Amino acid sequence: MSTSSTENTKVKRDKTAADGEAAAATKVGAGGDKSSGRTFDFDYAPSIESTEIVKIQPQNKLFIDGKFVTPKSAKYFATMNPATGEKLAEIADANGADVDLAMSAASRAYTKTWSKLSGRERGRYLFRIARIIQERARELAVLETLDNGKPIRESRDVDVPLVAAHFFYHAGWADKLEYAAPGRTVSSLGVVGQVIPWNFPLLMAAWKIAPALACGNTVVLKPAETTSLSALLLAEIFQEAGLPDGVVNIVTGAGATGAAVVNHSEVKKVAFTGSTEVGKIIMRSLAGTNKRLTLELGGKSAHIIFEDAALDQAVEGVINGIYFNQGHVCCAGSRLLVEESIANVFVEKLKARMQKLRVGNPLDKNTDIGAINSEGELKKIRSLVATGQAEGGEFFEPTDIRLPEKGYYHRPCFFNNVAAAFTLSRTEVFGPVLTISTFRTAQEAIAKANDTQYGLAAGIWSEKGSKVYKVAQGLKAGVIWANTYNKFDPTSPFGGYNESGFGREGGRHGLLSYLEVK
Ligand code: NAP
Ligand code: MG
Repeated sequence: MSTSSTENTKVKRDKTAADGEAAAATKVGAGGDKSSGRTFDFDYAPSIESTEIVKIQPQNKLFIDGKFVTPKSAKYFATMNPATGEKLAEIADANGADVDLAMSAASRAYTKTWSKLSGRERGRYLFRIARIIQERARELAVLETLDNGKPIRESRDVDVPLVAAHFFYHAGWADKLEYAAPGRTVSSLGVVGQVIPWNFPLLMAAWKIAPALACGNTVVLKPAETTSLSALLLAEIFQEAGLPDGVVNIVTGAGATGAAVVNHSEVKKVAFTGSTEVGKIIMRSLAGTNKRLTLELGGKSAHIIFEDAALDQAVEGVINGIYFNQGHVCCAGSRLLVEESIANVFVEKLKARMQKLRVGNPLDKNTDIGAINSEGELKKIRSLVATGQAEGGEFFEPTDIRLPEKGYYHRPCFFNNVAAAFTLSRTEVFGPVLTISTFRTAQEAIAKANDTQYGLAAGIWSEKGSKVYKVAQGLKAGVIWANTYNKFDPTSPFGGYNESGFGREGGRHGLLSYLEVK
């Protein structure tokens, strides 16, 4: 189950196994088929994605005014491959002077070019960008996996297709903005400052850049410190698409660079995705200015399973909701609420499924759970798990899963029968850690689901549409999935309640925060 085991895959079968089967035939998980008396100890053959398609520069510059430029700060920091703990490249650390240059470029591009183009012309650039993203999809996916640690299956099948979809979708809006606010007049805002996190580096960049450009604004974007590489590749794609200079500028750096972006006097609107803690800092620093602000913050989303749900499918939904992508999803279904009558059965099914998850090399196409993005995040997850154990939570982890020796990995795990006051019932872990509690009635499920300072997402599993509808009406969450989880679409607005932030991204609602509506 580990990288080392996938790289040296053993195929051991006992003599009673049917002979003609190919040696490469694989079983899923450990344990074997007890009913037929066969014992197995083998795994999927490794299927490692080649990294040859990706050319990583040892030292990466800033993208300002259409060119890659040396930072005025003359400083760089390292970005790591979390799967191995090895350094991938150096990234420029932009200071205030660099941010000033990026802002001037964005401001010039806004006044001289971008705001003068028709919606149709802006849309053509966005369509072109979307098509190049599709053409370079494999390169983007491999780079994202190298820098972030997420399984290639996810970056290839989820992130990159959604990135292209966001550009296509917003390209379509660019010449139809008058329909975004029917009967009103809309216009662009100017320069927008955008700061994004490390969990979906490319996707968050697309969520922010595509609507801003469609609406006629220009952009200064700061990616997360640990995952800047894919945003810089996106900058190359903007060059390839012939996007006019200065329309998008990318300034890499740490929190101080982010603060310089959001606090810059040139910025008319700030869009931030990240932690509630930093969201609050930004909100305080923008108070009293006339800058617009949207915040997409953390979550502790409830995943509710009723007794009449298709349980095996619900188990898959729970696994997808919290364990795939290492729990690095802001809307992860991290609080499982199960109807009491089926709780034991459900938890046993979940344990059995967890034993079969493959944790390891993110570049292996069979990997379900890749690497935790950084050593710091891994320490944070471990410390929260230790808190849960100290508080006496019923802890489970599939100990058969061996973790790779190098790199940052964490086993999927849960705490069962937890009370609402349990620290992990309330605190966002941002790792593959689930809490489980039970309910008896739909009303109780709603009350427990809403007992959080967050309100980003929720999932409901039931065979009865009327029940799903009724429960959904009672939940205070920005996104609610029924009989599925973690499904995204650019046409659908995304955003939170309470400490999960405000404002929406995607759909018609998402456009409105990038437009002046008169
Ligand atoms: P974070 O620490 O808040 O960082 C987010 C971004 O803000 C990074 O680019 C960060 O730079 C930058 N930053 C840090 N301090 C700043 C400051 N004072 N002013 C301006 N920018 C600053 O969050 P994270 O740990 O990277 O991401 C995880 C969090 O994001 C989780 O809480 C998750 O729930 C949330 N998230 C929410 C959504 C959503 O749509 N609601 C989506 C994804 C993630 P550095 O990288 O250098 O720290
Ligand atoms: Mg990295």
